[in-house]
Amino acid sequence: MQQLSDVTALAYLLSAVLFILGLNGLTSPVSARRGNLFAIAGMAVAVATTMFAPDMKNYGLILLCVMVGGSIGIVIAMKIKMTAMPQLVAMLHSFVGLSAGLVALGVYLTESGSGPPDTALMVEIIAGTIIGLITFTGSLVAFGKLQGILKPAPVVFGGQHVLNSLLALSAVFAGYFFTVSDNLVFLLVIWAVSLALGILLIIPVGGADMPVIISMLNSYSGWAAAATGFTLHNSLLIITGSLVGFSGAILSYIMCKVMHRSIFNVVFGVSSASKTEGAVEAQTAEGKSVKTTVVEEVAFWLKDTGKVIIVPGYGMAVAQAQHAVKELMNVLEANGVTVKFAIHPVAGRMPGHMNVLLAEADIPYDHVFEMEEINPEFVTADAVLVIGANDVTNPAAREDSSSPIYGMPILDVEKAKQVFVIKRSMRPGYSGIENLLYYRDNCSLLFGDAKDVCESLKAQLKAM
Ligand code: NDP
Repeated sequence: MQQLSDVTALAYLLSAVLFILGLNGLTSPVSARRGNLFAIAGMAVAVATTMFAPDMKNYGLILLCVMVGGSIGIVIAMKIKMTAMPQLVAMLHSFVGLSAGLVALGVYLTESGSGPPDTALMVEIIAGTIIGLITFTGSLVAFGKLQGILKPAPVVFGGQHVLNSLLALSAVFAGYFFTVSDNLVFLLVIWAVSLALGILLIIPVGGADMPVIISMLNSYSGWAAAATGFTLHNSLLIITGSLVGFSGAILSYIMCKVMHRSIFNVVFGVSSASKTEGAVEAQTAEGKSVKTTVVEEVAFWLKDTGKVIIVPGYGMAVAQAQHAVKELMNVLEANGVTVKFAIHPVAGRMPGHMNVLLAEADIPYDHVFEMEEINPEFVTADAVLVIGANDVTNPAAREDSSSPIYGMPILDVEKAKQVFVIKRSMRPGYSGIENLLYYRDNCSLLFGDAKDVCESLKAQLKAM
């Protein structure tokens, strides 16, 4: 590896320490802001050090790219809605993957012909290409599923795993021939196979596995960056990529554990749904009807109750109802009601989505409970307010073995005395299936936009 100057090495070390402090800060909502500041400082040191490194050339081109990329980044950051954040993250992962592939190709084209092939470099190029391009197309598919361009349901077909295994084998063979022959054609074969594998590994993932695959792709993007670090002999990129790779892998493992999913199945694209999409759509609670209610009735019920548990979901994010929810909480507490929040690990569209929104509205952390903590408490709750949540409350996860969310632990809302669900229509949630909760005797639907309904409930309670 090329020698770093002492100053560069020291600055990279400082940057790595700042990244680690940043990750440590992100382990709790209380320290998350501080963690972000550490990470920003780490990135600033890393970029400045790299820019002023002794072997840096082509300043004009770099500046042009920074200006174009930076401007696009600023516009996106200003315009992006919180609800579209997961798609943006998936898209950004795809960029990391594509750059790893392009850097590997660029390094090969620059180095080839300048002497006998260096086996270590060839292996680094192959690793960067495979990991990078699987991340690239896999993340694009995840983006499509989250954005609604592609159907979120798993896409499965006969012989899928045989095809994936054959593709993986051909990548290994092409890698071997590339290393011994130093021929660009084999690298291009690796490109094609990796691009296809990225798509094929992600299309069978859907429903309750989607959040896991997003954190898995996060991890892949880290490994792609680390591979690029090896190819470019940049120690900081290796460290940073490994940090992202490991933290993403640990998060995926934790999510698989809480969601009762097999990490092996998720990584190798084995769908947990045992039905095809058509069969999923056919699942209905035929012959049953739902009960609907109105704001006045719900306010009347909530006024004299002892304990209310609020279950926020993706709809709260869409409606940006978190501040209205906080005000509703204040009014309830002023009336002597105990209010708690129940957070499902995959509520919303990204890990921690609900925690971020509740923190933004200054809802005290001691009111917010994770699924394992709150589930035993539903039985003691007088009422549950489900605000824009759907899949995370669906008893089909327990009762219907053919459901795409089967096996996913859910919030036990139906154990409460009364459940009120705030949503706009009978449309399903992300997994595209009907919610059996709505047909339970103790459940009533309050149709409307989450923010409007919470504001009306608050006004009604105040007027009582
Ligand atoms: P869901 O997607 O299951 O349901 C959201 C509900 O919100 C819908 O039923 C919708 O009904 C309602 N809604 C939408 N807009 C509004 C609005 N303005 N006002 C009121 N209601 C609204 O969300 P959940 O949070 O329950 O579950 C998350 C799902 O997303 C899970 O299936 C999970 O696997 C998946 N997922 C999660 C990721 C993560 O990391 N957390 C990542 C990728 C996927 P209506 O249209 O009738 O209003």
